[in-house]
Amino acid sequence: MLYDIILPLAIEGTLTYDIPDTPKDIIGRRVIVPIGKNKLISGVVLRPHSTDETESFSVKTIISILDERPIITPSQLALWQWMATYYMCPIGDVMRAALPNTLRLESETKIRLNPDKTAEKESLTETQIKVMDILSDGKIREIDELSKLIGVKNVVSAIQPLIDDEYILSGEYVKEKLKVKSQQWNRLTITPTENKEHPLNPLSEEQRAALQQVNQSFTDKDVVLLHGVTGSGKTEVYTHLIEQTLQAGKQVLYMVPEIALTTQLTDRLEKVFGDTLGVYHSKLSDFERADLYQHLLKTNRYRLIVGVRSAVFLPLHDLGLVIVDEEHDSSYKQQEPAPRYNGRDTAIWLAHQFGAKVLLGTATPSVETYYRTQTGKFGLVELFCRYQGVLLPQIHIVNSREAYRKKEMKGHLSYEITNRISDEIGKNKQVIIFQNRRGYAPYIECSGCAYIPKCINCDVSMTLHKRQGILSCHYCGYTISIPQKCPACGMPTLTDKGVGTEKIEDEISELFPKSRIGRMDLDSTRKKDGHQKIINSFANHQIDILIGTQMVTKGLDFSDVSTVVVLNADQVLNSPDFRGNEQGYQMLEQVSGRAGRKQEQGHVYIQTGNTENPVISQVCRHDYSAMYRQQIEERQMFRYPPFYRLIIVHIAHRDPAKISTIAQQIQDSLHTVFTHRCSRVVTPLVTRVKLLYHRQIMLKFAQNEPMNMAKEMLQKQIILLAKDNPDIRSARIYFDVDPL
Ligand code: ADP
Ligand code: ZN
Repeated sequence: MLYDIILPLAIEGTLTYDIPDTPKDIIGRRVIVPIGKNKLISGVVLRPHSTDETESFSVKTIISILDERPIITPSQLALWQWMATYYMCPIGDVMRAALPNTLRLESETKIRLNPDKTAEKESLTETQIKVMDILSDGKIREIDELSKLIGVKNVVSAIQPLIDDEYILSGEYVKEKLKVKSQQWNRLTITPTENKEHPLNPLSEEQRAALQQVNQSFTDKDVVLLHGVTGSGKTEVYTHLIEQTLQAGKQVLYMVPEIALTTQLTDRLEKVFGDTLGVYHSKLSDFERADLYQHLLKTNRYRLIVGVRSAVFLPLHDLGLVIVDEEHDSSYKQQEPAPRYNGRDTAIWLAHQFGAKVLLGTATPSVETYYRTQTGKFGLVELFCRYQGVLLPQIHIVNSREAYRKKEMKGHLSYEITNRISDEIGKNKQVIIFQNRRGYAPYIECSGCAYIPKCINCDVSMTLHKRQGILSCHYCGYTISIPQKCPACGMPTLTDKGVGTEKIEDEISELFPKSRIGRMDLDSTRKKDGHQKIINSFANHQIDILIGTQMVTKGLDFSDVSTVVVLNADQVLNSPDFRGNEQGYQMLEQVSGRAGRKQEQGHVYIQTGNTENPVISQVCRHDYSAMYRQQIEERQMFRYPPFYRLIIVHIAHRDPAKISTIAQQIQDSLHTVFTHRCSRVVTPLVTRVKLLYHRQIMLKFAQNEPMNMAKEMLQKQIILLAKDNPDIRSARIYFDVDPL
């Protein structure tokens, strides 16, 4: 019988293959199929091929079926299809994002023997024994190589069970030392806690009322927003709701925007829910990912999953509740590569499939979400006070221009701030310093000839990382060692410009030589447990001053932090994006929220040259609704979400001489179809990234326009254009639906 097979390739739609002697439950199983001249690849059976169209192509036959049972559930397949349609991308891209690497074998997959585990020969097939024999020399080989050596075409299906049983290692394990692996395994296998000696914290009166309102609201709303100020105990309310849902025999998915948040949360939830808690994030190894996946598929062990956006891809079966914490956070959006999806919105769709409820929680709701509570689409429950009545932090604005003018600065910090830090450290309190740029300095410049080293692949200057002795491009990762002399004029006059977290760390170390200082940014958390180490040492007060990028602004709960310092808020406040003010407010309010969470009121120092910005006064008053009202007015006036839906058409090409013409041709053609909905061609701030030149066209649709049809027309129009225009065919064109 003919079936449509999803392949992990960036091709439109699916490919059709013949599966002889098809077993009953073939949908959702993996099969090995031939592709191209002599490549084998594993794909997923999506559906029987509809035979009403006349077949003009010759159909190939699959090589073999990999699984004895489906490993992709019907609801997962439905999600993949919805995502491909909604986010306008190949379903193969969705598959690639959704399946752990070890479940996606190809003929090029590299494998080697696992020296830590010996297989019983009796349990192996003849082919499997041959495979193990060849690999016994410890060498790394491609699957394809083995099939040639053994002379068996279908060696993949013999290898998969060996990988599943860990006799053979694939993917990243080929390179890794095994010691690391066994540690990781131990960490994932959470030891059962002593049967809930830790019962749930009793809720405060206000929290109990909120929980009741949430439940009440769920009777007629599928999605409810819990809008609670920072430190109001939203997590405690979630915990009670989780308990309810688990008691009712349903699964819970608890989404967080960033891996850094999983650390503290895991500790808090593990105490209550023990080993029914599973954690899913980007720092898991392939093996751990696959293990959680298989458990969810086959066992009932994990009932509560804490995860980042990609957790929506897990094989859940009786989902009852989804919590999306910090729902406003832009990290829920995957920017690159496709699928360019929003984890929050996808979770809402997913919950709907299961008839599950969704609780969105935040102190600073996205304008879109809050708007939906106002129109009655979502329910709204609010918590106005911090737990035990602690006051929200007091905000102090430090005018950096004036401080510079009066020469009241030590390095990049004003006297007012350094004095405050000194006082607080003296009282054995902790301080967080937020600096939203990693590295030592954003660029270096020759003071003689004004030369600035730029990336060879992108139109950006290279960031100085002094500790590592390198300049690196934050767009493509290209790295060179720091030049001793100016590459342009040959003089030793290169100086660093601007400031990043590392420079602040140096300045703080000089100012407070006796204090213990930590830094949390992408560079200091690259190792697998990087976040955990820093967060734990700060929580245990082994660090007095923590300097960090946006990672320190979100959701973290420390009890001894009395003071938060925001350096250089101007970058966010000056953003030209229509969401600039909203995001500025969210960031400042969230980072403030880390101060004075328990007992005493905290203090926040915002150092800015932009004191007149309305966002500043809104944050000073913790006045979310003022920000919302202002934004909603502007959005309506300038036709932006939540009143309009946006799709950005991205066009990229290698040839700078061609990109403008190509983009204009596309714009002309889209304009004939979409008229006033179609913007002009926009050249992004950074025009060249990874050797490609970029252009964008924005489409705006009113809320009531039929989007499915619009998306179909858009895709068709591009295909039509490409058909008889080789230049457009050679361009990379993709869509970003609901861009952030
Ligand atoms: P939010 O998620 O709203 O920022 P949290 O749930 O993190 O707030 O609560 C802030 C702090 O107050 C946490 O340390 C939490 O343990 C504590 N807390 C809040 N509510 C309770 C409660 N009902 N019982 C005990 N501790 C609580
Ligand atoms: Zn680059």
